[in-house]
Amino acid sequence: MNYSIEKISSLIAHVPNFPKEGINFKDITPILQNGEAFRALTHYFAESIPESVTKLAAIESRGFIFAASIAHHLGLGIVLVRKPGKLPRETYEHSYGLEYGQDTLQIHRDALKSDDRVVIIDDVLATGGTAAAVEKLCEVSGATILGHRFLMEIESLNGRKKLNYPVSSFIRC
Ligand code: AMP
Repeated sequence: MNYSIEKISSLIAHVPNFPKEGINFKDITPILQNGEAFRALTHYFAESIPESVTKLAAIESRGFIFAASIAHHLGLGIVLVRKPGKLPRETYEHSYGLEYGQDTLQIHRDALKSDDRVVIIDDVLATGGTAAAVEKLCEVSGATILGHRFLMEIESLNGRKKLNYPVSSFIRC
């Protein structure tokens, strides 16, 4: 790969006070804008996914982009974890506290089966509330959770502590 994780990391823009005062927003869109970097990152993610996985759980919205490219690379399905009112059929839902506010996530009731083995994908692990909610939604579906993959982890927020399954991230800040 021409793009190391360090080089990919250097593309991330750190935007102070967005979307609120006090939040240092990690903007990953410069990675998506760079074809070589995005492809390399997809390879790194894909290499980290165990062979026994049957589906990736993708967190709205930047998680969709990474999960879709990894799933395409590996020939896996993805299930969408979305904000309320977006999924058209029967859902499970879970509410949680976010670094900037309160939110609820939903998953289609038929998205995961009890024999599915899932890895949860997102761009940034901050407080861990979002990923913990996704764990709950996967558990309610009866699937086995193998772990989480994040591009970046904000270590000072201790998000890992909220999670009950193995966490790995390529970049820590
Ligand atoms: P949390 O539940 O606090 O771990 O927040 C994780 C979710 O919010 C992820 O889907 C991230 O995309 C987004 N997020 C939270 N904090 C940030 C941040 N500082 N920069 C970029 N995205 C963030």
